[in-house]
Amino acid sequence: MREPVIVESKAHTFYIKKKNIPKGCQQCLKGTKAVLFLNGICQNPRHCWWYCPISEKRKGKKDTYINEIQISSKEQILHELKAINAKGMSITGGDPLFEPNLKKTLEYINFIKENKGKKFHIHLYTNGLNFNEDLAKKLARAGLDEIRFNPSKENWNVIKYALNKGMIVGAEVPVIPEVEYIDDLKKFIFYLNKIGADFINLNEFEYCSPNSQNLKDRNFKLEVGTIASVKNSKKQAIKLVKDMAPKVSIKIHFCTIRAKDYWQMRERYLRRARTIKLPYEQITSDGLLLYAQIEGEKIDIKEFYAILLNEIKIPQNFLSYQEINIKLPITFAMEELLIDLLIQNNLKGYVIEATPFREEKYQQITEKTPIKLFKEEMGLNEN
Ligand code: SF4
Repeated sequence: MREPVIVESKAHTFYIKKKNIPKGCQQCLKGTKAVLFLNGICQNPRHCWWYCPISEKRKGKKDTYINEIQISSKEQILHELKAINAKGMSITGGDPLFEPNLKKTLEYINFIKENKGKKFHIHLYTNGLNFNEDLAKKLARAGLDEIRFNPSKENWNVIKYALNKGMIVGAEVPVIPEVEYIDDLKKFIFYLNKIGADFINLNEFEYCSPNSQNLKDRNFKLEVGTIASVKNSKKQAIKLVKDMAPKVSIKIHFCTIRAKDYWQMRERYLRRARTIKLPYEQITSDGLLLYAQIEGEKIDIKEFYAILLNEIKIPQNFLSYQEINIKLPITFAMEELLIDLLIQNNLKGYVIEATPFREEKYQQITEKTPIKLFKEEMGLNEN
């Protein structure tokens, strides 16, 4: 029998050839999946609290977020789904199935299915502590498409309740590079395979500020050249996928930190940027918005706006004029004539790169470079 081939996807995740990856992951990597963070409330289970990557700002708090945006109504979810042209949504926390969260979780699944239609894919993460047959039926009835468990070893058996309810059933767990844990993980994969689960999604073990002290105390190290990968997690994960692939029929997918933190975010930014882009902005390959901004005193800005319109003949719809600044496409700002005019008029010009949001609270200026320097850096100076 031929050995199964392990394939690296273009998003830098790994899977077994011909078995593909779970639908929730496919959408995530394309940036078509929104993340509903229900709230930061969970039972703080012993098996995962010590490596929990939830930020202090969210952990234990009641606030709900859709992607980066904090919301106070269900309708705001629809707004965000539209902004990124989402094809699906994941529900996470906290534990969305912890008793105090249950009503809200079911309500949200129903609401999204009603508004986005049956085909809109919803998957949910749970530690499994509160899971039972009755709950499995309720979730399936509400329209949940996929459920992912990260249970303690003593609680694997609850996964069985989710089977044969019309939902795709799988697990999502980190790859903690310790001999005992990896041995248990192998047993877990065999168990999932035996009961007829569909997949396991393995995550590279993450070193981040909320868990850094606990990981340090347990002697975990950061992989050299990375900012969030625990040393040896990726190596062990790829070995695990290779070892297990010939022995089981379930899908095994390994998601790297690079895919999670960079690729997914980039894809989502690109989709959002395409929806909200204004005529003076252009989209970078990372999904950020790029434009030029002229800054100065109110009176000077007003006069310069007239120059841009009447002398440089920039169409009005390419300009955004506010009291103390004007935004315009960088192609116009690169013109030597415009740079000379800026100096003559005592104004400052910058190239701005920003995250694709309109709300000030979420939009971050990632770079602000003086136009002259930007031209130099891009090799656009004339001589
Ligand atoms: S259940 Fe989730 S949110 Fe709660 S401690 Fe575990 S990993 Fe963190």
